[in-house]
Amino acid sequence: MSASRSDLPFLIAGGGIAGLAAALALARKGFQSHVLEREDDFGEVGAGIQIGPNAFRMFKVLGITEAIDATCVYPDALVMMDALNGDLVTRVPLNTNAFREVFDYPYAVIYRPDLHWALLDACKAESAVTLETSARVTGFEDTGERVRVTLEGGRNRDGVALIGADGLWSKVRETVIGDGNPRVCGHIAYRAVLPTPEVPHELRRNNVILWAGPKTHLVHYPLHRGDIFNLVAVFHSDRYEEGWDVFGDVDELQSRFVGQRAEVHAMLNKIDSWRMWVLCDREPIKVWHKGLSVLTGDAAHPMLQYLAQGACMAIEDGVCLASKVAASPHDLPAAFAAFAASRYLRTGRVQLTARFYGDVYHATGVAAELRAMMLGQRQPEQAYQGVRWLYSGLDDDGNQVF
Ligand SMILES: Cc1cc2nc3c(=O)[nH]c(=O)nc-3n(C[C@H](O)[C@H](O)[C@H](O)COP(=O)(O)OP(=O)(O)OC[C@H]3O[C@@H](n4cnc5c(N)ncnc54)[C@H](O)[C@@H]3O)c2cc1C
Repeated sequence: MSASRSDLPFLIAGGGIAGLAAALALARKGFQSHVLEREDDFGEVGAGIQIGPNAFRMFKVLGITEAIDATCVYPDALVMMDALNGDLVTRVPLNTNAFREVFDYPYAVIYRPDLHWALLDACKAESAVTLETSARVTGFEDTGERVRVTLEGGRNRDGVALIGADGLWSKVRETVIGDGNPRVCGHIAYRAVLPTPEVPHELRRNNVILWAGPKTHLVHYPLHRGDIFNLVAVFHSDRYEEGWDVFGDVDELQSRFVGQRAEVHAMLNKIDSWRMWVLCDREPIKVWHKGLSVLTGDAAHPMLQYLAQGACMAIEDGVCLASKVAASPHDLPAAFAAFAASRYLRTGRVQLTARFYGDVYHATGVAAELRAMMLGQRQPEQAYQGVRWLYSGLDDDGNQVF
């Protein structure tokens, strides 16, 4: 006998940050879900991630603040340095009472596996969440009553609906939106982590430091209770058409940073083995669902990482999606429409602002001089007001409130 519709779980394609956040948020509202992850294990890239106060608000809703707090680092400041002349461009204090007064929650950096494990552990502790690995979603059928997902190898899973949390190259998006491949933006990111004792002494700061150079930047910050440092080096290149988490070419990287400060090279020279990401995004769209299927996270709104918000948005999505489902459990297409309607302007603003931040980081000539002049004059309070919409413009259901 087949299961009745009400016995079926939400199927979630993808067990990354978006998929696990959605599963956990749904469980907190009393809904069952089954997460389908294509890899043989649940896991994340061994790199760092910045998390804004807006994500901390969601951690509280999801009940994982303690787990995050146990492993993250709270940096003292966001610092931008000019990679050519070594001047301080701007310093935004983070770990201060003034910051907490404006945003209510802190700013942190965390080792990605620690964030992923916090979500995964919380999901495992929920009987409403079941997890399946080696389960690559290859297609699905929506009967109007339920969805039937096909996995690689021909197996099927039935669900009350399908949540596509399968990232930038989403398979689910092909059917829900069908708008082709993401936009290759022409920037490449190289990532690595370095044990803290190997970090040059003068660079061993509890700050997120960004060295802004012509068509390049380097970011470094401490991670994992300060045991390691995260490095991300970005440069413009049309050399690579596609690629994701593959080994990077060290000579190519070095050639892009020629002429920059000794501190930049001191960091770059420490790493022999980089992982490379070809950076992509998409134009914002306002409809993220079709019938009983809906997109979340990078599958819905992939963005460049220059605002450090892709994962934060994915976590907010999960909370918002669950609250819309709870408000309309018997009309899921309406719940999904309400979810996208509540989210698309916020995520679209992040997608577009991230591109602009990239232009600011990589400015050359007069644009770089203007950057120094305008950011150099800014007081912390002005910097805070500039990102208030992002860091505190959210309610506990993941809706933008101003
Ligand atoms: C260099 C860089 C730095 C970044 N820094 C930050 C930062 O500081 N702060 C921040 O908030 N964000 C940051 N981001 C963005 C962040 O990494 C992403 O937005 C976030 O990981 C998106 O999560 P996701 O779960 O939507 O997608 P993904 O992380 O891509 O997860 C998708 C999951 O789905 C699985 N999957 C894929 N296809 C299928 C399928 N067909 N069937 C089943 N499973 C499937 C994958 O294996 C994976 O587990 C950064 C990104 C980059 C590239």
